[in-house]
Formats: sequence, C-alpha cells, structure tokens
Amino acid sequence: MGFWRAILADNAEESECAWNVVHEICEDLIDLGNKRFQNGENQSKAYESALLYGYMARCSASGNWLEKAEEALNRSITVARNMHPGLFGGISGLGWTIDHISKIWNCDDTQPASDDISHEIDGKLLKGVGTKEWRGPYDLIHGLVGMGVYFIERLPRSAAEKALVQIVDHLERLCEVDGRSCTWRTRSEQLMGWQRVHHANGYYNLGVAHGVPGVIQFLDNLAALGIEYRRCRQLAEGATRWLLEHARKRADGTWFGTWITPLGEMPPARFAWCYGDLGIVGTLSQFADRGENPAFEECLDDILDQCLKRDAGQVNIEDSPFCHGAIGAAHIFNRIYQRTGDSRCRERALHWIEIALRMRQPGNGIGGVLAVQPNLSVGGESLHVANPSLLDGAIGVALVLLAAVSPTEPEWDRMFLMSSKTLSNHPKQN
Ligand SMILES: [Zn+2]
Repeated sequence: MGFWRAILADNAEESECAWNVVHEICEDLIDLGNKRFQNGENQSKAYESALLYGYMARCSASGNWLEKAEEALNRSITVARNMHPGLFGGISGLGWTIDHISKIWNCDDTQPASDDISHEIDGKLLKGVGTKEWRGPYDLIHGLVGMGVYFIERLPRSAAEKALVQIVDHLERLCEVDGRSCTWRTRSEQLMGWQRVHHANGYYNLGVAHGVPGVIQFLDNLAALGIEYRRCRQLAEGATRWLLEHARKRADGTWFGTWITPLGEMPPARFAWCYGDLGIVGTLSQFADRGENPAFEECLDDILDQCLKRDAGQVNIEDSPFCHGAIGAAHIFNRIYQRTGDSRCRERALHWIEIALRMRQPGNGIGGVLAVQPNLSVGGESLHVANPSLLDGAIGVALVLLAAVSPTEPEWDRMFLMSSKTLSNHPKQN
C-alpha cells in the first residue's frame, strides 16, 4: 500500500460529518440490498456494495463489515452467469472486487472460498478475449480496457498475463495508424440511439470512460508492469501524439471535447472524470509524470491550471456521484495532491467535497445522495433518483469520503484508472 494522507483529518467537525454520511449511506445500502433480495430483484450489482463494506472493514474498527461484504458478493455470484463481461456492473467488476476483497480478508486471517469462482471468471473472460477478431467495444466501462483492468489485478497469474497479451493484440489490430500517430475509432454500431444516427461513420472518443485516454493509461500501466513493454509503449506514445495533434485550447480555457468526428468537429465536454479535461489530467498525469513527452506534459500542466480555476458556478455539475459529479472532481484533485503534494489540489479537493455534501438531501436517496437519471427530465428539470452504483451513485460518494477521512489508500480507484497496481517482483521490461 502507498502512503496516503487523510485530507479531512485536520478538521474534526468536517471529518465527523463525512463519517456520518458514510455510515448513513452504508445503512441505507444494507436496507435497500435486503429489500431487493427479498423481492427477488436483480442482484448482479450487489458486489459494488461489497467493495464499500470491504473498505469499511479496513477503515473502521467497529462493525462486522467483512460478513456484510461476503453476503453482498454471494448475491452477485449466484447471478454471475447472466452478467455482461464489462468492468462496471459486469463480470470483470465482480471478479475485480472478489480479488480485491480477498486481499483484505487475507489480512484479517479468515479466508473465503473465493479461489474457485475467481478461476471460473478468469476462464470465462479469457475465452472471450481469445477470439481471433474483437468486435465488441474497446473502452474502460464495457470493453477490452475494462477486462484488461481486471486481468491486471489478477497478475502475476499466467492466465492473466495470457489474457493481457491477447487484449494488447486486439488493441493493436483495432487501432488506426497515421504516420507515427495512432488512435481508436468507435464504430457507429457501438453507439446508442441518436448518436448512431448522427455519427454514421463513428467517432474518436476523447473521454477516459469510453475513449482513447483510457486506452493510453491502461497501456502505460501494462508497460510499467513489464507486460508487452515495447508494444504498449509504442501504442501509448502514438496515441498521445494523436491526442496532442487534436488538442485545441478554446476561449474558455478548455482543451478537449467529448469526441472528434471524422470531419474534425469536437463538441465541448463537461467538467468530469468520464469526459473532458479533468478526467484526462486525473488519469494521464500518471503517464506524463514519466517525463518522456515534454509537449504533452506542458499541455497537461495548463489543463490542470485551468481545472483548478473552475468553481461550481462555472461548470455544469448537477449531482455528487463519481462519474460526472462533484465527488469525482474532489477525488481527482485529491489523487493529484497525494501524488505531487500540490497544495492547490488539496484545497480544490476540499472545495468539491464541500459542494458534494451540500448537494445532499437528508432523508432522501441513499444516505441523502441523489443522482441525476440520464435522459429523463420533468418540465425541463433533471430528475434526481436514489442510485446505489459505484460509478454514478452513492457507493462512489461513500468511497471518496472514506478516502478523505482515513489514511487507507483508496486502491479501488484503479478501476477508474486513477492509480495503478505495482508488482515488486515483476520485470520492468521484456
Ligand atoms: Zn459520466
């Protein structure tokens, strides 16, 4: 585990408030989970609650959190056969969580029988990526990169290494090369609804969640672990060159939009982890910190300066969850602060935590957390609903608050490509 500073620890009042919110979220999740289980509702995402309970076991001295985590995991495991392969809400996410929580269990000396199910998940996903031609999405949330994030967690097992080599093969085959630059196109058949109609030739996605920046950071993590070092470096550097070729600073100070169409149009992006400059600097500053591309480093430095200037009144943040809400902004600044010691980022992390806490509606939602329901509005107003999810709901909010009040490193954010696993005995190059 790395060194981690609890940024709320200096302020007893704020720290207590954040702890209370975390406890309220957990209590509501337990109630909701039990109700859904008794009503026979789909339990596939119950493992996301287990991730939170696992961190509660690490950070909190009281409560039988590991038992609760095991119960929630088992609820997902029983329906795993029907789950999609992806990292968020799918088998890769379930497998990632089982592996991660098993390590917490091992510290606690009580070993669950998780090995069999993990091997089953390895086999199922390995078979999926073993196909000759990959026709599915390449992204972090639902595609190849997300499955790769799962297999990084399973290293140094040989099945994981085999799967990761196959994933790199697919990414290499899918990339479009132009001179020394390369990128990945999202084909129109992978788009939903109106996007498919508007983008008959697809587009090049610029968000961490679904696009090229997520691939770059994933390949950089692989190279650092010594997996397919040269190929991963080459692809990551080619894609970084492509990103820089398309970087345009606008009058409002932002650089990257949501995507680039084959005609070169780039609609503006939100201030979020999933799309836009904030997510790009939050993930790719790990890559740029290696100091091998000064022009890219300079671009990210300017992006960070611009992101630090933005207040809640200047950006369109409608709710608190991680994906595109206030707590995601807080965690990105907190991660950069922990990595670089930049006190401006600490201050911004605290600012966005305060905004997220102000957005709560005690007595409503899950622990007072409400999330915007995508594509639904009433009288022009967004509809806010109770959503337990890690990505865009209360679980992500609780995990970020926990990381602000406790000295335990939030390693769960490897799923968001905000940090990466290190293997002490793994070769650095091959
Ligand atoms: Zn989002």
